[in-house]
Amino acid sequence: MKNETQKSGLENLYGIRDKRNHYHPHKKVGYPPVFIWPVKPLSALAWIVSIPGYFLPWNLFYMATGLIAWYLFSPQLEDYTYITLNLLIIVYARNSILVMIYYGLFHLRLFLQKTQGIAFKFNPRWPDMKSKIFLFGNQTYDNIFLTFISGVSIWTLFEVFILSLAANGYLNLVSPTVQPIYFGAMIFLIHLWRDLHFYLIHRLIHWPPLYKIAHYVHHKNTNPGPWSGLAMHPVEHLMYFSCALLFILLPFHPAFVVLTLVHAGLSPAPGHAGFERLVASKEKVGFDLDSYAHYLHHKYFECNYADGILPLDRWFGTFHDGSKTSHKKMQERFRRKRFIK
Ligand SMILES: [Zn+2]
Ligand SMILES: [Zn+2]
Repeated sequence: MKNETQKSGLENLYGIRDKRNHYHPHKKVGYPPVFIWPVKPLSALAWIVSIPGYFLPWNLFYMATGLIAWYLFSPQLEDYTYITLNLLIIVYARNSILVMIYYGLFHLRLFLQKTQGIAFKFNPRWPDMKSKIFLFGNQTYDNIFLTFISGVSIWTLFEVFILSLAANGYLNLVSPTVQPIYFGAMIFLIHLWRDLHFYLIHRLIHWPPLYKIAHYVHHKNTNPGPWSGLAMHPVEHLMYFSCALLFILLPFHPAFVVLTLVHAGLSPAPGHAGFERLVASKEKVGFDLDSYAHYLHHKYFECNYADGILPLDRWFGTFHDGSKTSHKKMQERFRRKRFIK
């Protein structure tokens, strides 16, 4: 295992391994200079257009994929008027292909071809091939099954349900040519809405009764891989993809619904990769997968409920940046909780 670690000496520049061979990045989890006090408008503006920033590398990709999915690979809005089996199959197939390609590429590179060994992998172990806690006794099979059978199905149902309401004239639609500023602003802000919605449903689903019914399924993945991203109980999928219901309240364009759901459907793949970085070549480190904050949530459960750019965990005292100080604070929270109980 040590040899695999050394395949990329690059890892040593970015972090250290502890006695158990778990990887800890030097770079701590942080937030962009946007939601801070006193405000720093110039820094915030610079962050929006820098790399990494608001758009690149991730957000622009999800925006483009969502828009392409609607404009090139979706039925016309009129075709959503009647919910037919044909319509459901077409939308399910499109969403499945997106998932297969995106999650599949991360899994292929990192877990099948193992192109970088365990370099930058937080937990040195590979997914459990024999474990009674997972369906079929195998973490990856369990994750893929839950993703396609429940995840993509519920994603598809949300899209078809909302667009069918729109096609039948029950909701207010906007047009990019008539309301270009509103259209552009909503495309820009969808990412922030997703952050907020994810935080709210995630806090809710950690409420013990809901955790026992649903969220424990996702948390079986203490050593996640890309496919763990959408490995959830159907109740959690219902809550997770309910982010698209925002458009029942606001005037919208069908592309907003597709883009919001594409963002929710695809973004968990890098976030659960289990690796801090994707190595592009032996000499160069590709890019940060932004997965450390959520990896810490999978490892310790009671921290980093948010996963994005809104500093909600910092505001509500559940932030863990990977440092020893944060760790001590978290343990102190655990002690207080036990004491209250
Ligand atoms: Zn997760
Ligand atoms: Zn959780």
